[in-house]
Amino acid sequence: MSENCTHNCSTCGENCSSRKEDSLLEAGNEYSNIKKVIAVVSGKGGVGKSLVTSLLAVLSQRRGNQTAILDADITGPSIPKTFNVDKKAISNGEVLFPASTKTGIEMMSINLLLDDDTKPVIWRGPVIAGTVKQFWSEVFWQDVDLMFVDCPPGTGDVPLTVFQSLPVDGIIVVTSPQDLVSMIVGKAVRMAEMMNIPILGIVENMSYFICDKCSEKHYIYGESHIEEIAKKYGIPYVAKIPVEKSLRECVDAGSIEDFAGNWLDEIIEVIERA
Ligand code: ADP
Ligand code: MG
Repeated sequence: MSENCTHNCSTCGENCSSRKEDSLLEAGNEYSNIKKVIAVVSGKGGVGKSLVTSLLAVLSQRRGNQTAILDADITGPSIPKTFNVDKKAISNGEVLFPASTKTGIEMMSINLLLDDDTKPVIWRGPVIAGTVKQFWSEVFWQDVDLMFVDCPPGTGDVPLTVFQSLPVDGIIVVTSPQDLVSMIVGKAVRMAEMMNIPILGIVENMSYFICDKCSEKHYIYGESHIEEIAKKYGIPYVAKIPVEKSLRECVDAGSIEDFAGNWLDEIIEVIERA
C-alpha cells in the first residue's frame, strides 16, 4: 500500500495496488487520518481475542506508534473495561471523539455510548454492522499510525462488514490449542483470501501454563500443532501466550497498560512492517 494512501479511494489520488474502483469501502470522515488497520479475529468467543487486541495496542503505543482500538464487538464489548475507561464519548454534533486511555491509546466502543453499559445490546445484524461503519466514518481518528479492530468472533455479518467496509491491511488470527483450530484457521484464511487481505500471523493464546512450583510448561489444552497449521496455510508468523494469572488480573483491574511479557514482541514488528 502506498505511503500516502488515505484509505478513501473516492478522494485519494494515489494509484496503489489496493485501489478498489467499485469498492464497498466506507469513507472515513474528512478529519481522520489512519495509516494502518489491523483486524483481530477468532473462530469463537472466549479465546482471548480482546486480550490480544489490547496487548498488541499497548505494545504498539509503547513503541511510539499513535495507536487506536475500534471495538467492533458490539454485543460483547470488553475493551473499555480492560483499560479502565469509563468516560462517555463526546460529540460536537458533527463527529464523535474517541476516548483516550492513560497512555494515550484512542478508543471507540459501544460501551462509551450507552448510558448503562450493563444492558445487553439486542440489535439485529444490519444495525450492528451499521454501528461498526459509523465507528469508522463518524469518529474523529486524528493521526493514527496503527488501528486495531477487535472483531466479533466467527465469520458472520459483522466481521464481513469490517473486511468490506474498512481498509484492513492485515489480519491477526487468535486461537487456543484445541481440536477445531485447523478448521477455524482454514475459514479465516478463506475469508481473508476472498477479501484479498493478508493474514500476518496467528496468536495461540492459553498455549501452555508454567507452574509456579516446578517451573515446567504444562500443555493443559493439549500439545500445540499451531506451527504445522500455520505452515499448511502459508501463514508466516506464530506467537504463543501462556495462561497467566497476571494477565487475567490486569484485565480485571483495567490495568492492561502495565502488563509485562515479551510474547508479542516479534509479531508487533511484523505488523509494523506490513
Ligand atoms: P474473547 O475476546 O476472545 O471473547 P477475552 O480476551 O475476553 O476473549 O478473554 C476471555 C477471558 O479469559 C478474559 O477474562 C481474559 O482476561 C481471560 N484470558 C484470556 N487469555 C488469557 C491468558 N492468556 N491468561 C489468563 N487469562 C486469560
Ligand atoms: Mg472479546
